[in-house]
Amino acid sequence: MKQYDTLIVGSGLFGATVAYCLNKAGKKVLVIDKRPHIAGNVYTEKMEGIIVHKYGAHIFHTNNREVWRFVNQFAEFNRFTNSPVANYKGEIYSLPFSMYTFNKMWGVVTPEEAKAKIEEQKAAAGIEEPKNLEEQAIRLVGTDIYQKLIKGYTEKQWGRDCTELPPFIIKRLPVRFTYDNNYFNALFQGIPVGGYTKMVENMLEGIEVKLNTDYLDHREEFNAMAEQVIYTGPIDAYFGFELGTLEYRKVDFETELLDMPNFQGNAAVNYTDRETPWTRIIEHKWFEFGKDENGNDLPKTVISREYSAQWKPGDEPYYPVNDAKNGALYQKYAALAKEEPNVIFGGRLGEYKYYDMDQVIASALELVKKLNS
Ligand code: FAD
Ligand code: UDP
Repeated sequence: MKQYDTLIVGSGLFGATVAYCLNKAGKKVLVIDKRPHIAGNVYTEKMEGIIVHKYGAHIFHTNNREVWRFVNQFAEFNRFTNSPVANYKGEIYSLPFSMYTFNKMWGVVTPEEAKAKIEEQKAAAGIEEPKNLEEQAIRLVGTDIYQKLIKGYTEKQWGRDCTELPPFIIKRLPVRFTYDNNYFNALFQGIPVGGYTKMVENMLEGIEVKLNTDYLDHREEFNAMAEQVIYTGPIDAYFGFELGTLEYRKVDFETELLDMPNFQGNAAVNYTDRETPWTRIIEHKWFEFGKDENGNDLPKTVISREYSAQWKPGDEPYYPVNDAKNGALYQKYAALAKEEPNVIFGGRLGEYKYYDMDQVIASALELVKKLNS
């Protein structure tokens, strides 16, 4: 008999969900993380009373009732709805693309007028089957919106020309012919009151957690302690990069505390021109409507400028790159992973998958069902 039934490598949402469920089912669980804190990439920390999203802004949104019920056991969610604005050389537009955007761009008032304007620009561009992101964008919203709100932002974000990017990237963005500027098509949306770290702390209550502990540096020792391992770190690192390195897209954050109550009047402002070096600025306090947990106004503000950057091995892995080359390499690692006795790979890094938070939780809940059946 080993000391633990399950060792969970990584205290992000995947690891914490599995840990909570197995612990509840009476299993003895140990969670380790190489970082000095729990919660993985959803980690939040307070600065002058403001909850700061350290690894990028995280807005919880889902259509999955089971996941929504699950997370609501650990946190109360506020009514935050993501409605970013775009700043194109000082012109302000509402995002995602809705009647507010079309009205500001063209002065049109009805959905019919907006559709006619897009049709007119689409026809002038003469695109049949979109072959790249530029053509896809023009087909969806016309040339003006493409030029002012998509081209510069996308090229900064992906470091490539829109004509060299696949059409599907832009399909994530809603296009609406209503006056609804909610960024997400989701039944449920909000931010956990008190921050994500507090939510994950609640998930891990009563479970042993060791921080600053890298599994890969002590693999034998940990394997000897547990019957099975759930590994949520990068799959290529687990195998010592023996088949090559999977690539990521990186974001650099420049965070500043400002001695003013209101910098930009919104949680997210996208800078959609090509020249501004950052892609967007997040003003964290607006995720909580500018108030602390007791409803008091906060006198200062914290902003984070986001820069898209070239990822290199050793950097923080943010977004998996969904292209053919990396997809094929991942498949090879996945085949090795299948053969690994008593180890299950999960989460954003373990499965090299662009998961939203609700999807990562759903995937962890599925795994637990399998393990318990
Ligand atoms: P992670 O949170 O990365 O957790 C993995 C953990 O494993 C980490 O803590 C890491 O330190 C640890 N680890 C790795 N290797 C080892 C090792 N060898 N030993 C010990 N520990 C190890 N989703 C949304 O739904 N809404 C959003 O608004 C949103 N915004 C995002 C913004 C950004 C910039 C990014 C990058 C992602 C965003 N996401 C968003 C996605 C969300 O962050 C992920 O779905 C989620 O955090 C993934 O959880 P995870 O547990 O799989 O991975
Ligand atoms: N996008 C854009 N202008 C914007 C916001 C987004 O052109 O102001 C495009 C861009 O190509 C981006 C894609 O829409 O990659 C998806 O946007 P989302 O915010 O969903 O991207 P994420 O940051 O989640 O990858």
